[in-house]
Amino acid sequence: WSSDTVAVVTGANRGIGFEIARQLAGHGLTVILTSRDTSVGLEAAKVLQEGGFNVDVHQLDVLEPSSIEEFCEWIREKYGGIDILVNNAGVNYNIGSDNSVEFAKDVIATNYYGTKSMIKAMIPLMRPSSAGARIVSVSSRLGKLNGRRNRLENPTLRQQLGDLDTLSEELIDRTIETFLKEVEEDTWKSGGWPQTLTDYSMSKLAVNAHTRLMAKILSDRPEGEKIYINCFCPGWVKTAMTGWAGNVSAENGADTGVWLSLLPDQAITGKFFAERREISF
Ligand code: NDP
Repeated sequence: WSSDTVAVVTGANRGIGFEIARQLAGHGLTVILTSRDTSVGLEAAKVLQEGGFNVDVHQLDVLEPSSIEEFCEWIREKYGGIDILVNNAGVNYNIGSDNSVEFAKDVIATNYYGTKSMIKAMIPLMRPSSAGARIVSVSSRLGKLNGRRNRLENPTLRQQLGDLDTLSEELIDRTIETFLKEVEEDTWKSGGWPQTLTDYSMSKLAVNAHTRLMAKILSDRPEGEKIYINCFCPGWVKTAMTGWAGNVSAENGADTGVWLSLLPDQAITGKFFAERREISF
């Protein structure tokens, strides 16, 4: 890895995203710090630039197709392509044990559809390399498909989503849309969805399933043009998202994401990690 290696981090103006950007830049990479708010992004980037890091900055709202498009155009013109994408942007409106689904649409749109849009937009910009390009998504153990607690109660659906032979983008989207429909009709409570932070858990369950699916799809790429995709849970992190109630610092929460982005072992793809170890989906 060198300053020729270009890494893009979404939602990098604060929290875990900012730390991932800082640590990747600390490894000598060129980091593109993106933020949906331009001035906030500039300020965050300035902190890193003043620390001597190679950090560039650009506006990016993962919910806005025009923002994604403009960002891609800028990358193409200025850098020609990228080597690493970290999907970190996310929202969660439930603090502590609240379980409101009032903002379910926004949570799913940002955490799942936003991540998916970025992956789709960035793949054509990922540069060929012998080490393979990398996509890392910040997910959560709350989205575990087969967790002992907080899981989908429907065993058939769980099995279909868990089996790579039956897993498809259509199945993930259909599951998510069924959940949102039940939210709209206010029948979701008896729908067998995860019981803790339901909307957020569903968004991360979808991110996890999509990671496994994309790894399978991307595995067809020829040697030299490989793209490896993984996701990780940062733990319960002291950021605005948790009302600073977590038990892990943003610095430590970022660690597994940085490690995964720079992993020398090229063949690891379609996996879920926490504390630098593989965990089950
Ligand atoms: P923060 O709330 O501190 O940061 C979230 C970041 O995402 C902010 O930069 C925010 O921008 C950005 N963001 C939100 N919506 C958009 C959007 N539409 N487009 C671009 N950026 C957007 O939370 P964390 O740092 O804790 O969260 C980072 C990631 O880690 C999230 O994906 C989260 O789900 C995940 N995570 C966090 C855990 C925790 O305990 N904190 C646990 C497990 C996973 P803005 O400043 O403009 O709001």
